[in-house]
Amino acid sequence: MYKRKLLFVSALTALMVIGFMATSLTSYFVARDSLSRNISEQMLPLTSDNIYSEIQRDLLRPILISSVMATDTFVRDWALTGEEDPNRIVAYLNEIQQEYNTITAFYVSEQSRQYYHPTGILKTVSEQDPADDWYFRVRSMREPYEVNVDTDTADRSRVSIFINYRVNDYSGQYMGATGVGLSVEAVTRLIDTYQQRYNRTIYFVDRQGNVTLTGRGHDRTSRLQDRASLGAIATQILSTPSASLEYTNSEGHHVFLNSRLVPEFDWYLIVEQDATITEQRLDNTLLLNIGLSAAIMMLVLIIAHFTLRSYQRRLEEMATRDRLTGIANRHMFDMIFEHLSRSTQRYPRPVSLISIDIDYFKRINDTHGHQAGDMVLQAVSRGIMQHTRQSDTLCRWGGEEFILLLDNCPLDEAVKRANIIREAIKEQSVAFGRNQIRVTLSIGVTEQVPGEDLEPFIARADAALYQAKEGGRDQVVTAR
Ligand code: GH3
Ligand code: MG
Ligand code: MG
Repeated sequence: MYKRKLLFVSALTALMVIGFMATSLTSYFVARDSLSRNISEQMLPLTSDNIYSEIQRDLLRPILISSVMATDTFVRDWALTGEEDPNRIVAYLNEIQQEYNTITAFYVSEQSRQYYHPTGILKTVSEQDPADDWYFRVRSMREPYEVNVDTDTADRSRVSIFINYRVNDYSGQYMGATGVGLSVEAVTRLIDTYQQRYNRTIYFVDRQGNVTLTGRGHDRTSRLQDRASLGAIATQILSTPSASLEYTNSEGHHVFLNSRLVPEFDWYLIVEQDATITEQRLDNTLLLNIGLSAAIMMLVLIIAHFTLRSYQRRLEEMATRDRLTGIANRHMFDMIFEHLSRSTQRYPRPVSLISIDIDYFKRINDTHGHQAGDMVLQAVSRGIMQHTRQSDTLCRWGGEEFILLLDNCPLDEAVKRANIIREAIKEQSVAFGRNQIRVTLSIGVTEQVPGEDLEPFIARADAALYQAKEGGRDQVVTAR
């Protein structure tokens, strides 16, 4: 029994562990999967779209202004006619700067290499001066313009975004570079705002992997390829117009990255999101789930334990009690008799036995049915019980036969008791439908010979009972 219970509890535990773990882990992995999908397919591309359109709004206008400057007939005519009266171009640049609220506007002539600026002629550009590299790059490039982030030639402490537009004469010959300069501040602020609002890292890199624009406090020094954590995916970023990637950063955090090429600048806009905090939240939920499951499992096991115990008790009871009448069965009677025998050996005292059989019981079954018979059996056992003491044992010996074991009771007293019981049952009637069923009892009584076994003891009582039947039933016969 104990072994089976252990088996049952183990199987139940195993089933619950498998069930709970399966559901917890499935939902965990589904949540993780949908989280990474959500980040890489929705959140990052959306941020990227928003920033892209903001940057476009902020930067496309200067490109347009620069393009207008590059094709302006005044600028070209003035330059082609020998750059006379520099004040005229200076006034023009000044007006552009005022009108469009840029931080600078410029024209560099290929003919004279003069750098014209809203405040006058700034310098003469030279191939020897590294600060003028940009000019010679623009001079030899195929594209009509470039966007360059550089220190301002007029103010070295300031970083600006320059739109460098090529100016061609009417026959398409290169004749200089013009454009405007913008403060990086505005773009940096914009990036900062987005970084804070969405808790993302946002920056731009050029096709070579150099970081060109970032929010405040971002590492601008190293190239993408040179970063330990990003190196492996840098080539992937720089070789496709857009990509959704993941990597582990130097702090061991799981980072999602979205890149897209912004054709106007020929830069990549990179948006990164650290998923570690969200993933940790999922991990915590998983732990909580497992904890809850464990608690539920404990509860189920406790309930199972108590349920099993109560069933076990009922089974034990069923093994010792007669189901119909609830009185002792033969098995229990044997145990009680054994116990009594040991007791009387130590403390000798009279023990009597009353054997009872219902008269013509078969007729009740035949006339009223089996159910009526059962009710009579219950009523008779109840009736007999009313005339027994605590120390007596009533047992259902067979179909409609009972035996009553009387501890510390001599024969004459047992005979008196037998007659009381016979009279009581005779007076009692059982209502079944419209019928009142009455029965009588035939009874045999005997006293135990000291040390006598159960078998001869009962046989003597049964013999007396047989005589009572023979004698016409409804009577008590004594065997000495
Ligand atoms: P007698 O006066 O000689 O004892 O006649 P009887 O009909 O009582 O004796 P018999 O032993 O021939 O019949 C006993 C009947 O009791 C037969 C059996 O079907 C019925 N019986 C035995 N157990 C049960 C029971 O649990 N419920 C019911 N309803 N009937 C039972
Ligand atoms: Mg009978
Ligand atoms: Mg009988």
